[in-house]
Amino acid sequence: MRRVGNPRPARNEVRRHDVQSRPLTTGQVKGNLRARMDSTEQSTDVLVVGAGMAGLIAASELLRAGRSVTVVDKGRGVGGRLASRRIEGATFDHGAQGFTTGDSRCSPVGLQKRLGGAVAHWMPDPAMRTEGLVHWRGVPCMSGVAKHLALGIHVQLETGLVTLRTDAHRWIATTLNGRTIAAQAVILTPPVPQSLALLDASGVALPPALRHRLNAIEYDRCLTVMARLEGPSRIPPPGGLTLTSGPLTSITDNQLKGISGESAVTLHATPEFSLEHWDRDRTESAHLLLAAAADWLGAGVRSFQVHGWRFSRPRVLDPEPCLLASTLPPLALAGDGFGGFGVEGAAFSGMTAATAILGCTAAAPRAV
Ligand SMILES: Cc1cc2nc3c(=O)[nH]c(=O)nc-3n(C[C@H](O)[C@H](O)[C@H](O)COP(=O)(O)OP(=O)(O)OC[C@H]3O[C@@H](n4cnc5c(N)ncnc54)[C@H](O)[C@@H]3O)c2cc1C
Repeated sequence: MRRVGNPRPARNEVRRHDVQSRPLTTGQVKGNLRARMDSTEQSTDVLVVGAGMAGLIAASELLRAGRSVTVVDKGRGVGGRLASRRIEGATFDHGAQGFTTGDSRCSPVGLQKRLGGAVAHWMPDPAMRTEGLVHWRGVPCMSGVAKHLALGIHVQLETGLVTLRTDAHRWIATTLNGRTIAAQAVILTPPVPQSLALLDASGVALPPALRHRLNAIEYDRCLTVMARLEGPSRIPPPGGLTLTSGPLTSITDNQLKGISGESAVTLHATPEFSLEHWDRDRTESAHLLLAAAADWLGAGVRSFQVHGWRFSRPRVLDPEPCLLASTLPPLALAGDGFGGFGVEGAAFSGMTAATAILGCTAAAPRAV
């Protein structure tokens, strides 16, 4: 269930290998490799790493400003932590369950307007009501928000970035599936420890003060159980509970929430439980969490899956909405580790990073 990096080949690569019936000679292999390297070299104005909220908003801002943009994500779908999963007839949101808009600090991004029909009102817990904030869920589920934002954006999935180096005022990125992408500027939106690991593995030197700030950004872990139930749960409408004691922070009934065709609940464990049980047997941990939720389940469990979010929500953030690590060539770090207002904050961070990159780079001359 846990997946770090993505060692699987892209689906199109699998198909290419599948049709190969006869062994190739060494010369043919070398020729094919050369052809593949050539055909996989790309060039773009801005490379955005990560197709979550921050990356997709950054990409749409840059496109709107007339830049060419390539977005790469190591995952199989867009959204990052705006994540949904289908198991048999059930649909689960297993990352963020919902989010708010209306924070005056993020108003320049206009997130609510950008999302159109990809969201519906959903207030899981009236106690969470905050003056001026509007609560949303995704339509048809949380990943639908990201799919809506990704319309018209060139996103390459199953394309994990592994190294980044400079060459004559450009960034040269290499991906796990052997592609090389040259870009005038790069925006990194993975959780900050992952971006730092990438920069360190690439030998990119960071000013000590910047490294200190990036090192300070920390995230909580979250063990998540997705359980299909034999009947309706005891969770009251509209399907979301926030808990303040025990090993769970929330229980959500995905059917009551309006995203699942059958009874299905998502359980989120506390940061403390998740840390303590991270390296233990996931099935045993899931049984402990299901037992803690038993009063609210009200029906037998048909089946369950567990997901571990190594970086769920930031516990310590940087106060700035994004940081520029380099201006020549430009490199910005963005995402929910900056600014810190959840999904809306990640969107604002992406928008701010795009503005910073536009400020550092001149638009390429357009053909007339
Ligand atoms: C369990 C849980 C509950 C949450 N609850 C809430 C909530 O109630 N309200 C709220 O506002 N927010 C909530 N959040 C947080 C919210 O989901 C995030 O703040 C937001 O989605 C972060 O977006 P992002 O773009 O910054 O990062 P991400 O969504 O993490 O996107 C980063 C992307 O980078 C990709 N990536 C990483 N490394 C590489 C690489 N080397 N190459 C290519 N791609 C790479 C990843 O695959 C990912 O898609 C929750 C999150 C979780 C996990």
